[in-house]
Amino acid sequence: MHCSNMATVKLYAVGRSAIAARQLLDQIVRPAVCATQKRTAYKVVTRRHFETLKDQTTNVARRLFFTELMRGLLIGVSWIFREPATLNYPFEKGPLSPRFRGEHALRRYPSGEERCIACKLCEAICPAQAITIEAEEREDGSRRTTRYDIDMTKCIYCGFCQEACPVDAIVEGPNFEYSTETHEELLYNKEKLLSNGDRWEAQIAANLQSDHLYR
Ligand code: SF4
Repeated sequence: MHCSNMATVKLYAVGRSAIAARQLLDQIVRPAVCATQKRTAYKVVTRRHFETLKDQTTNVARRLFFTELMRGLLIGVSWIFREPATLNYPFEKGPLSPRFRGEHALRRYPSGEERCIACKLCEAICPAQAITIEAEEREDGSRRTTRYDIDMTKCIYCGFCQEACPVDAIVEGPNFEYSTETHEELLYNKEKLLSNGDRWEAQIAANLQSDHLYR
Protein backbone atom coordinates (compact mmCIF):
# COMPACT_ATOMS: atom_id res chain seq x y z
CA MET A 1 0.00 0.00 0.00
CA HIS A 2 1.16 3.55 -0.68
CA CYS A 3 2.80 5.37 2.26
CA SER A 4 0.28 8.26 2.38
CA ASN A 5 -2.66 5.79 2.33
CA MET A 6 -1.14 3.98 5.34
CA ALA A 7 -0.90 7.25 7.24
CA THR A 8 -4.55 8.06 6.45
CA VAL A 9 -5.67 4.65 7.75
CA LYS A 10 -3.69 5.14 10.96
CA LEU A 11 -5.15 8.60 11.53
CA TYR A 12 -8.67 7.23 11.00
CA ALA A 13 -8.05 4.47 13.57
CA VAL A 14 -6.76 6.97 16.15
CA GLY A 15 -9.85 9.18 15.61
CA ARG A 16 -12.22 6.26 16.09
CA SER A 17 -10.44 5.29 19.34
CA ALA A 18 -10.75 8.84 20.71
CA ILE A 19 -14.50 8.91 19.99
CA ALA A 20 -15.00 5.56 21.68
CA ALA A 21 -13.07 6.74 24.77
CA ARG A 22 -15.20 9.89 24.99
CA GLN A 23 -18.43 7.88 24.78
CA LEU A 24 -17.20 5.58 27.55
CA LEU A 25 -16.43 8.57 29.78
CA ASP A 26 -19.79 10.27 29.19
CA GLN A 27 -22.05 7.23 29.41
CA ILE A 28 -20.46 5.08 32.12
CA VAL A 29 -17.70 6.72 34.18
CA ARG A 30 -19.28 10.16 34.86
CA PRO A 31 -22.75 8.85 35.89
CA ALA A 32 -21.06 6.30 38.21
CA VAL A 33 -18.90 8.97 39.88
CA CYS A 34 -21.87 11.38 40.32
CA ALA A 35 -24.01 8.65 41.90
CA THR A 36 -21.41 8.07 44.63
CA GLN A 37 -20.99 11.80 45.50
CA LYS A 38 -22.87 13.19 48.48
CA ARG A 39 -23.81 16.87 48.20
CA THR A 40 -24.76 18.64 51.42
CA ALA A 41 -24.82 22.24 50.14
CA TYR A 42 -24.42 24.27 47.00
CA LYS A 43 -21.03 25.78 46.50
CA VAL A 44 -20.99 29.54 45.72
CA VAL A 45 -18.52 30.26 42.97
CA THR A 46 -19.27 34.00 42.57
CA ARG A 47 -18.36 36.62 45.16
CA ARG A 48 -20.90 36.84 47.98
CA HIS A 49 -22.24 40.29 48.68
CA PHE A 50 -22.22 41.59 52.24
CA GLU A 51 -20.53 38.53 53.54
CA THR A 52 -18.39 40.52 56.01
CA LEU A 53 -19.41 43.08 58.62
CA LYS A 54 -17.61 45.79 56.66
CA ASP A 55 -19.61 45.00 53.55
CA GLN A 56 -22.85 45.13 55.47
CA THR A 57 -21.94 48.44 57.15
CA THR A 58 -21.01 49.99 53.80
CA ASN A 59 -24.29 48.88 52.30
CA VAL A 60 -26.32 50.36 55.15
CA ALA A 61 -24.40 53.66 54.99
CA ARG A 62 -24.93 53.79 51.23
CA ARG A 63 -28.66 53.44 51.66
CA LEU A 64 -28.95 55.85 54.58
CA PHE A 65 -26.94 58.70 53.05
CA PHE A 66 -27.82 58.22 49.36
CA THR A 67 -24.13 58.22 48.54
CA GLU A 68 -24.66 56.84 45.01
CA LEU A 69 -27.23 59.55 44.29
CA MET A 70 -24.85 62.23 45.60
CA ARG A 71 -21.95 60.89 43.55
CA GLY A 72 -24.09 60.95 40.42
CA LEU A 73 -25.21 64.52 41.15
CA LEU A 74 -21.63 65.64 41.74
CA ILE A 75 -20.51 64.19 38.41
CA GLY A 76 -23.36 66.06 36.67
CA VAL A 77 -22.54 69.35 38.42
CA SER A 78 -18.81 68.97 37.69
CA TRP A 79 -19.54 69.11 33.95
CA ILE A 80 -20.80 72.69 34.37
CA PHE A 81 -17.24 73.78 35.11
CA ARG A 82 -15.53 71.80 32.34
CA GLU A 83 -14.92 72.96 28.79
CA PRO A 84 -17.96 72.01 26.69
CA ALA A 85 -17.45 69.44 23.96
CA THR A 86 -20.09 71.01 21.71
CA LEU A 87 -20.44 74.35 19.91
CA ASN A 88 -23.51 76.54 19.83
CA TYR A 89 -23.37 76.82 16.04
CA PRO A 90 -23.99 79.20 14.24
CA PHE A 91 -23.32 81.61 17.12
CA GLU A 92 -20.06 79.86 17.97
CA LYS A 93 -17.61 78.47 15.43
CA GLY A 94 -14.55 76.30 15.77
CA PRO A 95 -11.06 77.23 14.56
CA LEU A 96 -10.23 76.80 10.86
CA SER A 97 -6.89 75.80 9.42
CA PRO A 98 -5.22 78.41 7.15
CA ARG A 99 -5.23 75.63 4.54
CA PHE A 100 -8.98 75.17 4.73
CA ARG A 101 -10.44 74.93 1.23
CA GLY A 102 -13.84 76.57 1.15
CA GLU A 103 -15.72 78.80 -1.24
CA HIS A 104 -13.76 80.08 -4.22
CA ALA A 105 -12.80 83.71 -4.67
CA LEU A 106 -11.00 85.78 -7.28
CA ARG A 107 -8.58 88.27 -5.76
CA ARG A 108 -7.49 91.77 -6.78
CA TYR A 109 -4.28 93.71 -6.23
CA PRO A 110 -4.43 96.55 -3.67
CA SER A 111 -4.85 98.93 -6.63
CA GLY A 112 -8.14 97.23 -7.46
CA GLU A 113 -6.82 95.55 -10.62
CA GLU A 114 -7.77 91.92 -11.10
CA ARG A 115 -4.95 89.50 -10.42
CA CYS A 116 -6.09 86.89 -12.94
CA ILE A 117 -4.07 87.01 -16.17
CA ALA A 118 -6.20 84.43 -17.98
CA CYS A 119 -3.40 81.88 -18.27
CA LYS A 120 -6.08 79.18 -17.96
CA LEU A 121 -3.85 76.89 -15.90
CA CYS A 122 -6.68 76.43 -13.39
CA GLU A 123 -9.08 75.47 -16.16
CA ALA A 124 -6.58 72.98 -17.54
CA ILE A 125 -5.73 71.36 -14.23
CA CYS A 126 -9.25 71.14 -12.80
CA PRO A 127 -10.03 67.40 -12.62
CA ALA A 128 -13.76 68.07 -12.44
CA GLN A 129 -13.75 70.42 -15.45
CA ALA A 130 -15.67 72.87 -13.30
CA ILE A 131 -13.93 76.02 -14.56
CA THR A 132 -14.73 77.82 -17.81
CA ILE A 133 -12.64 80.79 -18.86
CA GLU A 134 -12.82 83.11 -21.84
CA ALA A 135 -10.28 85.87 -22.34
CA GLU A 136 -9.28 88.71 -24.59
CA GLU A 137 -6.58 91.32 -24.82
CA ARG A 138 -7.28 94.76 -23.43
CA GLU A 139 -6.42 98.05 -25.12
CA ASP A 140 -3.33 98.41 -22.92
CA GLY A 141 -2.07 95.03 -24.13
CA SER A 142 -2.79 93.13 -20.92
CA ARG A 143 -4.66 89.88 -21.05
CA ARG A 144 -7.71 89.54 -18.85
CA THR A 145 -10.71 87.23 -18.55
CA THR A 146 -14.07 88.17 -19.99
CA ARG A 147 -15.68 85.13 -18.44
CA TYR A 148 -14.68 83.13 -15.37
CA ASP A 149 -17.29 80.56 -14.33
CA ILE A 150 -17.04 77.83 -11.73
CA ASP A 151 -19.71 75.19 -11.37
CA MET A 152 -19.54 74.72 -7.62
CA THR A 153 -21.66 71.58 -7.86
CA LYS A 154 -18.95 69.92 -9.95
CA CYS A 155 -16.05 71.10 -7.81
CA ILE A 156 -14.43 68.52 -5.56
CA TYR A 157 -12.45 71.11 -3.55
CA CYS A 158 -9.12 69.56 -4.42
CA GLY A 159 -7.39 72.96 -4.45
CA PHE A 160 -5.49 72.26 -7.69
CA CYS A 161 -6.71 75.54 -9.22
CA GLN A 162 -5.28 77.49 -6.31
CA GLU A 163 -1.97 75.62 -6.49
CA ALA A 164 -1.68 76.10 -10.26
CA CYS A 165 -2.36 79.83 -10.21
CA PRO A 166 0.92 81.77 -10.71
CA VAL A 167 -0.48 85.04 -9.29
CA ASP A 168 -2.64 83.75 -6.38
CA ALA A 169 -5.75 85.01 -8.15
CA ILE A 170 -8.11 82.07 -7.72
CA VAL A 171 -8.15 80.83 -4.14
CA GLU A 172 -10.34 78.72 -1.95
CA GLY A 173 -11.27 80.97 0.93
CA PRO A 174 -12.34 80.29 4.50
CA ASN A 175 -16.09 80.59 3.85
CA PHE A 176 -18.02 77.34 4.19
CA GLU A 177 -21.46 78.81 4.75
CA TYR A 178 -22.81 79.18 1.25
CA SER A 179 -25.48 76.52 0.99
CA THR A 180 -28.28 77.38 -1.43
CA GLU A 181 -31.73 76.16 -2.29
CA THR A 182 -31.21 75.88 -6.04
CA HIS A 183 -28.55 74.49 -8.32
CA GLU A 184 -28.37 77.72 -10.31
CA GLU A 185 -27.19 79.68 -7.28
CA LEU A 186 -24.07 77.53 -7.21
CA LEU A 187 -23.07 78.37 -10.78
CA TYR A 188 -20.63 81.16 -9.96
CA ASN A 189 -19.63 83.77 -12.49
CA LYS A 190 -16.78 86.26 -12.47
CA GLU A 191 -18.74 88.97 -10.60
CA LYS A 192 -19.64 86.58 -7.82
CA LEU A 193 -16.07 85.32 -7.52
CA LEU A 194 -14.65 88.84 -7.46
CA SER A 195 -17.14 89.92 -4.81
CA ASN A 196 -16.13 86.88 -2.73
CA GLY A 197 -12.52 88.00 -3.09
CA ASP A 198 -13.34 91.55 -1.97
CA ARG A 199 -15.28 90.24 1.01
CA TRP A 200 -12.69 87.75 2.26
CA GLU A 201 -9.45 89.41 1.13
CA ALA A 202 -8.10 90.18 4.61
CA GLN A 203 -8.50 86.63 5.84
CA ILE A 204 -7.33 85.05 2.58
CA ALA A 205 -4.17 87.20 2.56
CA ALA A 206 -3.47 86.30 6.21
CA ASN A 207 -3.93 82.59 5.48
CA LEU A 208 -1.63 82.70 2.44
CA GLN A 209 0.98 84.60 4.44
CA SER A 210 0.89 82.10 7.32
CA ASP A 211 1.35 79.24 4.86
CA HIS A 212 3.89 80.82 2.51
CA LEU A 213 6.84 78.77 3.79
CA TYR A 214 5.19 75.57 2.65
CA ARG A 215 4.13 76.69 -0.82
S1 SF4 B 1 -10.88 73.01 -6.34
FE1 SF4 B 1 -10.30 71.41 -7.83
S2 SF4 B 1 -12.27 70.75 -8.71
FE2 SF4 B 1 -12.67 72.71 -7.67
S3 SF4 B 1 -12.44 74.27 -9.27
FE3 SF4 B 1 -10.44 74.08 -8.26
S4 SF4 B 1 -9.32 72.56 -9.50
FE4 SF4 B 1 -11.49 72.38 -10.04
